[in-house]
Amino acid sequence: MTLVIAIDGPSGSGKSSVAKAVARDLHLAYLDTGAMYRAATWWCLHQGIDLTRTDDPEVASAVTAAVLALPLVMGVDPAAPAVHVDGIDVGADIRTDRISAAVSAVATNLDVRAELRRLQRAAIDAEREGGSFSGGAGIVAEGRDITTVVAPDADARVLLTASEEARLARRATELHGDAGAAAVEATRDLVVRRDADDSTVSTFHVAADGVVTVDSSDLDLDQTVEAVLTVIAD
Ligand code: C5P
Repeated sequence: MTLVIAIDGPSGSGKSSVAKAVARDLHLAYLDTGAMYRAATWWCLHQGIDLTRTDDPEVASAVTAAVLALPLVMGVDPAAPAVHVDGIDVGADIRTDRISAAVSAVATNLDVRAELRRLQRAAIDAEREGGSFSGGAGIVAEGRDITTVVAPDADARVLLTASEEARLARRATELHGDAGAAAVEATRDLVVRRDADDSTVSTFHVAADGVVTVDSSDLDLDQTVEAVLTVIAD
């Protein structure tokens, strides 16, 4: 039996760690769709496109053209989900502030979304049809619009939420190594602004019909994974 699991959530909800752990547990492939938007952003910057000017139709067209020619290879092994663009390993670079600050400008381009959704759907269908990594076991795909647009037909659909305080503390720990007041403040702007920008094109704060909400504010990683596995088993 093939399993397709869709997990959405805002930044800092823990969805990447949870999705990877669930995929490892169930021997499924793993698709990080946020990494695809980040890779697209890396590519646009690499091409010299000024992403502070995407309101200009010429710049927006350049972004679309760049993403339509994006030489992206997404690894789907949850133990080592590598991301290559034009043969370059961009796995670390796409997590930097430079990319986090620019990604919404690319992700709000509707032609970009159409193209990346097409690639995401193809990756999901490949795993469903006996694909390369899972041998047909299936895939866990995570992002902002997987439960609603990319895979509304998934076998299990989860919206992972967490309070703003919990999300900020997690991101601060990831980025600065601690969740003290200064680190949280340094993170606040980036996280809150990106959520607001992203909300213009995806509704990941509200669970759609049939999507189960898991609130991870008071759960650690293992407990959250357990909660998601329970949703999948139901
Ligand atoms: O999940 P992550 O923080 O890596 O996502 C990076 C960005 O990619 C998000 O801020 C959002 O702009 C975009 N994204 C999206 N749709 C998805 C996944 C990510 O728009 N399915």
